[in-house]
Amino acid sequence: MIVAIVGRPNAGKSTLFNKLTRRRTAIVSPIPGITRDRLYGQVTCPDGNAANAFTVIDTGGFESVDSMLQPFAENLVWEQSKVAIAEADIVLMLFDGRSGIHPHDREILQHLRNINKTTVYAVNKIDNESQERELLWEFFSLGLKESGLLAISAAHSRGLSKLRQTLHTHLAAAEAARQKKFSQEARLPAIALIGRPNAGKSSLLNRIVGENRSIVSPVAGTTRDSIHSYLSYSGKRYKIVDTAGIRRKTKIKELVENQSVFQSINALERADIVVYVVDALEGLKDQDARLLNLAYNRGRAILLLINKWDLVPDKNELTMRDYERNIRRQLGDLSFIPVHFVSSLTNYRVHKTLELIAELTAEAAKRVERRVLEETLRQIVAANPPTLAGVHKRPITFQYIKQTEVMPPTLSIRCNRAEKIKTAYQRYLRKRLKHECGWHRVPIRLILQGKKVGDRIRL
Ligand code: GDP
Ligand code: GDP
Repeated sequence: MIVAIVGRPNAGKSTLFNKLTRRRTAIVSPIPGITRDRLYGQVTCPDGNAANAFTVIDTGGFESVDSMLQPFAENLVWEQSKVAIAEADIVLMLFDGRSGIHPHDREILQHLRNINKTTVYAVNKIDNESQERELLWEFFSLGLKESGLLAISAAHSRGLSKLRQTLHTHLAAAEAARQKKFSQEARLPAIALIGRPNAGKSSLLNRIVGENRSIVSPVAGTTRDSIHSYLSYSGKRYKIVDTAGIRRKTKIKELVENQSVFQSINALERADIVVYVVDALEGLKDQDARLLNLAYNRGRAILLLINKWDLVPDKNELTMRDYERNIRRQLGDLSFIPVHFVSSLTNYRVHKTLELIAELTAEAAKRVERRVLEETLRQIVAANPPTLAGVHKRPITFQYIKQTEVMPPTLSIRCNRAEKIKTAYQRYLRKRLKHECGWHRVPIRLILQGKKVGDRIRL
């Protein structure tokens, strides 16, 4: 699920973004017009339920010094914010309580009313109670329901738990509505094709789904779910998410890059399997690494496609091996994901892509019996027991292990004290379990649950 934070420059979007995503240092771009280094971040739910985590987008990252001077409707920043709003499940509109209502606020509001998207309104910079009395009343004149207008101070963390709660309530409602829709059709594995502009996503999609498939273009008011494509392979059906997003292309150069980031995040939030497309001549860039990491943190099965292999000059039998080795080095923690070389132009190894998708799906959907898990855990712990916990050196004991989810495979382990297990040991457990249980090419999640309430670690 995605929450987009919108509002005028200086309203405090980035401060709030950092608070929500728990980043300690604010990112201030030294060069006007250059985006902050991160536009999106993860917010985990207080209840620790991974399904309730969401992504926030800081639209302030698009701002430049002269964005205030441009006419609003022609403002490039606003264009980009609109894209973010369109992609989001929920919009968080931030007002600047210190400077009061600005004409741009009204224009943003008008847009939000027209598109009829769930919006949470908050007045920021209400640092204390007396300011709440003095500064807030002005905003009631906007005709927003009083209950719908939160008073917050991003800088002083005032009103943020209420804000979080409100967001979670709305997100849960949105999710429930979507689930209801899903349950009417069988829950098919969902594939997202993502990558930078021009990597070849559309061309690959055409190869995979077939040239003749007509895609219904999104009409205002229709839901995104209606623009999926479907794919059948080896007797199994798959859904490809947000295909209209892949084909809908903008001509404004500055928009292309950010729009693609939103669409990528949006698609990967809704996918089980991420097919990440890279142009062989360009290689992996920072943007790719970030999106791949996001997909990984979200537990998505990932297939990395190196496309346009036909364009790589002077190939010999070592070229592919060296290229792959280099890519794996760049992938770091993700080096376990399959890397596959294709050309959508010549149709080189495209068919094998489908095979790999099928294999990854099966792996991510695999269930391992509890008996097998218990024995595996016993062996892993026996081979390398955890160091004793606490001042009194009481041993760490594991009571049970079971698989609670598929896609991603999620293992829940009950132990006496989860918080006392060292990070290196947590990583060891996850790595060994992943390997021993045969989830070689897909990420898994591990939940360590201690006896005490709240003693819980998610990996
Ligand atoms: P953005 O342009 O909307 O992303 O705004 P920033 O997050 O960069 O904040 C703009 C300015 O407002 C910075 O100087 C912040 O320190 C300040 N600011 C943000 N939140 C608050 C707040 O809750 N109270 C006060 N007093 N100042 C704040
Ligand atoms: P998207 O922006 O990721 O959807 O990329 P497109 O599918 O629109 O492809 C961008 C450009 O790269 C187009 O001109 C394609 O014809 C070209 N292209 C895509 N795949 C290949 C490939 O495998 N080889 C070559 N030579 N060109 C390709």
